Amino acid sequence: MLTKPDPPSPDPLGESPRVIGHYVGEESGPLVVAIGGIHGNEPAGVRALEQLFELLQEEPLVNPGFSFRGELLALRGNLEALRTGRRYVDVDLNRIWKPFVKGIDDSYPTAEARELDGMLAAIENALEDSSAQELVLIDLHTTTADGGVFAVTGDDGPSLSLAAELGVPVIKGMLSGLQGTTLSYFRSGAYDFEQPCRAITFESGAHTDEESVARALAATVNLLRSVGCVREEDVSTHHEETLRRAVTKVPTLLELVYVHRIDPADRAAFRMKPGYKNFHSIQAGEILASDSNGPIAAPCSGYILMPLYQDQGEEGFFIVQEYEGGTAY
Ligand SMILES: [Zn+2]
Repeated sequence: MLTKPDPPSPDPLGESPRVIGHYVGEESGPLVVAIGGIHGNEPAGVRALEQLFELLQEEPLVNPGFSFRGELLALRGNLEALRTGRRYVDVDLNRIWKPFVKGIDDSYPTAEARELDGMLAAIENALEDSSAQELVLIDLHTTTADGGVFAVTGDDGPSLSLAAELGVPVIKGMLSGLQGTTLSYFRSGAYDFEQPCRAITFESGAHTDEESVARALAATVNLLRSVGCVREEDVSTHHEETLRRAVTKVPTLLELVYVHRIDPADRAAFRMKPGYKNFHSIQAGEILASDSNGPIAAPCSGYILMPLYQDQGEEGFFIVQEYEGGTAY
C-alpha cells in the first residue's frame, strides 16, 4: 500500500468525531476494530488511522487489482481528552472497560463512561450489520519514555501468534496485571461476542516522536495483512522496515512480572528517576523512583517498561522478563 500519506487533515476530529472510518470490503472476512487515542495525550494512533483511510481511498486508483476482505472500523477513543491533550478527564479510559451504571437521569458517572458508551455503541452498530466470522482488535498507544515499540496481548495462542507477526517484542501476562483495559474487555469474554476474538495493544514509541505515527500505521497495515484483509502483494515492505528499524534488542517474547502501582494519595510525590527508557535493563535493588516513603527499588531484575514521566497515570513502571515457559505459543 502507499507509503507517502498526505499530512493529517487540519480538523483532527473531522465530521464524525467518533468514527474515523468504516471500510467494508467486497469479500467477507474479519471485522478489524482499530482504536487510536484511548488516552487523549496519545494522538499518534488517531493520525495513523486517518492516514490509513486516505491510503485505502487512494489504493484502488493506483492499484486496480486491490481487494479487501472483511471490514475495518477505526475509532477515536477519548474525544474530550484528545481535544485538550490530556491522558484523561476524570478517570483512565483504559482502566474502566467494564459495565457501569448510569444515573437515574441517564447521566454518566464520569466523562470517560460517556466515551466508553460511545465506543461500545459504534462497535455494536458495526457488529449488527456485519457478517464477519471473527473480530480482531488493535488498540494503538504511545508512551512517555522513548524506546518502546512493542505489542501487548492476552495469553491466548491466537492473539500471541498474531502479535508475533508484527515483528516487534511481545509482552504477555498484562491481562492479569491490569484490570479494565480495552484488551481485557475484548479478551475476557465481558463482551458477549459470538465470533472468536483476537486482541492486541500496540505501543508505537514516544508520544512526541513523529515516527510513532508511521509505526502505528505500519503495525495496522501489517495486521490487516496478517488477518487476511489485504493481500501480501498489496502491502509495501516499507512498513516492515519501519518497524524493524525501531525494534530494541530484547527477547521477542517477554512477560510482565511486576507493576508498581502508585498510591493515589501519594501521586504528587512520585518521581521516576530521570533517564529510563523502555526496555532499559535493570537489576534487583536498583533505585528507580521515589515517593514520600523514600526511594523505590526494583524488586527484581529485568527490563523496565513504561516508566512514568507525566503527571497522569496510576502505574509508575512495569518490569518484564524474558518468557521462559517453553514454546512461546
Ligand atoms: Zn496509552
